[in-house]
Amino acid sequence: MRRWNGWGDDQFNLELPPEGRQFLGQRIGSANPLPDVGLESVKPRVPASRLPSHPAINTDAEHRIRHARGQSLADWLAMRSGDFGTFPDGVAYPETNRDVQNLLKYAEEHGVALIPYGGGTSVAGHINPQAGATPVLTLDMSRMNRLLDLDRESQIATFGAGTPGPLVESQLRAHGYTLGHFPQSFELSTIGGWVASRSSGQQSLRYGRIEQLFAGGRIETLRGSLTIPTLPASSAGPDVREMILGSEGRLGVITEVAVRVTPLPEQESFHVVFFPDWDSARTACRKLVQNRTQLSMLRLSNAVETETQLALAGHPKLIGLLESYLSLRGSADRKCMMTFGLTGSKHQHRHALREARSICSDYQGVYTGTRLGDKWAEKRFTMPYLREALWQLGYAVDTLETATDWDNVDNLLNRIEENLRNGLNEKGEKAHVFTHLSHFYPQGCSIYTTYVFRVADSYEETLARWQHLKTTTSELIVRNRGTISHQHGVGKDHAPYLPVEKGELGILAIRSLCDTFDPDQRLNPGTLVQP
Ligand SMILES: Cc1cc2nc3c(=O)[nH]c(=O)nc-3n(C[C@H](O)[C@H](O)[C@H](O)COP(=O)(O)OP(=O)(O)OC[C@H]3O[C@@H](n4cnc5c(N)ncnc54)[C@H](O)[C@@H]3O)c2cc1C
Repeated sequence: MRRWNGWGDDQFNLELPPEGRQFLGQRIGSANPLPDVGLESVKPRVPASRLPSHPAINTDAEHRIRHARGQSLADWLAMRSGDFGTFPDGVAYPETNRDVQNLLKYAEEHGVALIPYGGGTSVAGHINPQAGATPVLTLDMSRMNRLLDLDRESQIATFGAGTPGPLVESQLRAHGYTLGHFPQSFELSTIGGWVASRSSGQQSLRYGRIEQLFAGGRIETLRGSLTIPTLPASSAGPDVREMILGSEGRLGVITEVAVRVTPLPEQESFHVVFFPDWDSARTACRKLVQNRTQLSMLRLSNAVETETQLALAGHPKLIGLLESYLSLRGSADRKCMMTFGLTGSKHQHRHALREARSICSDYQGVYTGTRLGDKWAEKRFTMPYLREALWQLGYAVDTLETATDWDNVDNLLNRIEENLRNGLNEKGEKAHVFTHLSHFYPQGCSIYTTYVFRVADSYEETLARWQHLKTTTSELIVRNRGTISHQHGVGKDHAPYLPVEKGELGILAIRSLCDTFDPDQRLNPGTLVQP
């Protein structure tokens, strides 16, 4: 069963190897976990529902608890302490377009706010209900989870919007196709959520971001149904698809998503190269992507992330051997690990591998084959479970991400890391901070920073520390030519920073779009743009 207060399946756990524990102890000290409350003790705290009764709406406490929060660190602190703040007043599980239309009508007639809910994997407060006098209904899309149509000739597949990653892929694979959209939250996030929050998958270099994959679909709005036809391309004015991408539940409920799919590849492999330092590694990545070498994924860990990953991997003997070999080849203390993926026909694969190895060796890259790359691929969707293991040891983990042009990558990355690393100095605490680059473009790349710190001796103080780190770094990002989000979206947490990026007129245009579809602010109020 899904964990009610954290990530994933409650029967699955990832252990932190002893070397990992020792490593963190040396970096930031050993920690004392905060006590978790049990589900049963939260149930009596759920207030009576304010919704007028409706046969399709479930007002049980457990359903409301399970839909009250997403997966940000602030959400975790709320769930673990039992101090949720606000719960939705009820949850509905529509199965058809007609069900969605009826629930929208109900919301309008009874003055109810409505939050579309995909997999609830938001890390920016998207699906958290706001406090206030308006009752809140959450619309869980999980029952609209089928492949509805597959046009093999045009390679367009249409899904119910609540289809989660594994069901998208298994239903397509049965016909020999893949969507190729693999966010790290793949296990739980949904195709409708990907569109609504402009998600990016790990193999976006081959398959594209969701913007490229989303071909059209159907959205139920308070003003009626909107159907977006699947055209290969169009110069007929502004693109309605673009209005839906990133709409975060503010314009309507996406019920059907048509996507561009690809036949399953002949071959796929993941490779690892080590570089002696950051400059050579970063330049090799830029050259690879500007050369348009046919990679399917690319990820570059900075020296601290490389060291952390090797420490957390366990297998000290094997890692020791690798370290000695790399040291002999000139990659020692400041080494940086690059992982790249190749996906396609055997011919494309051979050609791209030759090209990638040649560019890497121009920058002193030491190619180590596929063993570490295979490990990355094997664990790529289970890594979020590590957060649970760290939490049980008293460590809080969060990530921040942005994207910027190549000329600004080092400047922004260094500022983000420095701000996080020193952010708790006044409290006498340290944060362990590391970064990777991913989602590469000829113009620039995304910067993805992880920070780990010890929980304080109360939930309130831990939340205050996180808020300080989050707000100061978010401010810094938008003031230094970074986007407030490359892939996690805006939600409620990033909404205050959006005006810097979009400008006054840009925000006005987004607001008028919301007003056109939803003049009374019924749909997911407070998300994307602040009231
Ligand atoms: C461990 C972890 C790893 C992650 N890795 C990635 C990653 O690699 N790449 C990435 O892009 N993101 C990642 N995320 C963020 C998150 O998974 C994405 O934002 C994802 O797209 C959200 O999908 P969801 O179905 O869970 O949507 P939810 O979290 O349920 O909702 C997100 C927003 O979309 C709206 N929405 C959802 N479904 C619909 C619908 N049918 N109609 C209208 N609006 C809708 C909601 O109202 C809300 O505003 C990660 C999150 C976690 C916790």
